[in-house]
Amino acid sequence: MSPIKIFHFMPDKLNLYGDIGNIIALKQRAKWRDIEVEVVNITDTDGLSLDDCDIFFIGGGSDREQSLATEQLRKIKTQLKEAIEDGMPTLTICGGYQFLGSEYVTPDGTRLEGLNILDIYSESKKERLIGDIVIESETFGQIVGFENHGGRTYHEYPTLGKVVSGFGNNEDDKKEGIHYKNLLGTYLHGPILPKNHEMTDYLLRKACERKNIPFTPEKLNNSVEEAAKQAIIKRLLNDKK
Ligand code: GLN
Repeated sequence: MSPIKIFHFMPDKLNLYGDIGNIIALKQRAKWRDIEVEVVNITDTDGLSLDDCDIFFIGGGSDREQSLATEQLRKIKTQLKEAIEDGMPTLTICGGYQFLGSEYVTPDGTRLEGLNILDIYSESKKERLIGDIVIESETFGQIVGFENHGGRTYHEYPTLGKVVSGFGNNEDDKKEGIHYKNLLGTYLHGPILPKNHEMTDYLLRKACERKNIPFTPEKLNNSVEEAAKQAIIKRLLNDKK
């Protein structure tokens, strides 16, 4: 059986607030199920094919790194769009989430053109949205993370969840992230996957289904992860009172 290939896009530039932990979580939860995983670090997209990519991951970055990364992504834009439409499991964090849209306007009004893969719009303000966050997701239940972004994102797609505490996509509509086909886009660092095993397993399960690899056991013992998550939720919700 060929391994699950995780394409990690520009790990040298896009790794804010421990986003690399998402790769570690995917690898570890695959290992617990005896599923072989190979991580392919993508630093240059010239000649890159997404044909054998099973999970695509983009972390967050500062505005500068984000614009450098967009140039690399632009070269595979059509492939990436087709793969997302085809259901490739994808996780994009913060800056990685923003540049799937039409544009990102910086606080000084500079317009960074996005990839236009999705109908998403982001603009940034000087006042950043920072702190721990709890959201309620129909698919995953409660999700926790940490956010730190100037960008405010607007779209009409299904979201990752509803904000219970924190900001999410912007400070107005209480929506967080996007869940489009098997793409999960979010403002949550933390990193998000070690804190939210349901999302890690979702990406792995989808990748296995697409490759006809058994995803067993379906459930692992998540008591440690759950206890850690509930402690964060309790603290945040108590802090709000
Ligand atoms: N530069 C973007 C913003 O501040 C993304 C930051 C991030 O990835 N955390 O909105």
